[in-house]
Amino acid sequence: MSEIILEVQNLKKYYQQGSLFQKKESVKAVDDVSFVLHRKETLAIVGESGCGKSTTVKSIIRLTEPTSGKVILHGEDFTSLKGNALREARKKLKIIFQDPYSSLNPRMTVRDIIAEPIDIEKTWKTRGEREEMVLETMRLVGLDPTWINRYPHEFSGGQRQRIGIARAIILKPDIVICDEPVSALDVSIQAKIINLLKQLQEELNISYIFISHDLGVVKHIADRILVMYLGHVVEEGTSEDIFNHPSHPYTQTLLNAIPTIGVEMNESSLIDGDLPSPSNPPKGCVFHTRCPFAKEECVLKQPEVKDLGNGHQYACILNAENESE
Ligand code: SF4
Repeated sequence: MSEIILEVQNLKKYYQQGSLFQKKESVKAVDDVSFVLHRKETLAIVGESGCGKSTTVKSIIRLTEPTSGKVILHGEDFTSLKGNALREARKKLKIIFQDPYSSLNPRMTVRDIIAEPIDIEKTWKTRGEREEMVLETMRLVGLDPTWINRYPHEFSGGQRQRIGIARAIILKPDIVICDEPVSALDVSIQAKIINLLKQLQEELNISYIFISHDLGVVKHIADRILVMYLGHVVEEGTSEDIFNHPSHPYTQTLLNAIPTIGVEMNESSLIDGDLPSPSNPPKGCVFHTRCPFAKEECVLKQPEVKDLGNGHQYACILNAENESE
């Protein structure tokens, strides 16, 4: 395995919820999440909406400040950086959003949108140099350079996502966080964007943290997968281990919800009950209120993490593949 470039240690993000006149409740959106990311690796974080995957990545990049825990980027404590040191470190860590249209200024040309990060960082000396950096990035992401003067509304959804990707990679970051980057696109366009991300990874040695609720998409890009439920990581492993030997009942349920690759999972029809509120999470195993294998002890204490080797771990009292102990 290649070098570790990002390490997340015991990350927590709790929100206080409630109005002025109500008792404040603590919402545990992310509760003790740890993982590592290797160079040129794609780590997918999957789970239902509300499982904490987007809050996890927003806390990593400090779009929202984590309540506690550490993010080590290139051996340095990213969580404690301030001012110039934080700005400098952020050049190495970029994000692509789900809805490219809302993140693109409709009054700016594609030239100025893509150039924004290099303008902010002042990485060019002449206008010609700036133009060449934009054109090179457009070619890299498969945008026709003759479109440089166009505005966002003149592009299709897939092309707009390419603009979002161009803006994320123009500073040649080490890590790109992809927050549901293809879920707003048609299936045929999804495949093209996934292929583009893979091609850019090869050419630029990028590592991805890929957030998705669509395991069909994840199967095409992830090297490793983290399965989250109610702010907790319940299973982690290589893509092969997660798809071929899912060991946590929640992972098995998610996989059963994708009869065909590329078809969005239909969580509601396969998982009994609603996701519990993160302000009042179940005691013991957080999945016990919906787990078909729940036993009395699941309500009493949190299950220990079991290690199956090769980085495959899951938090459940059952033996792998649901054999009873
Ligand atoms: Fe289900 Fe118990 Fe395992 Fe939790 S610990 S997933 S409730 S069997």
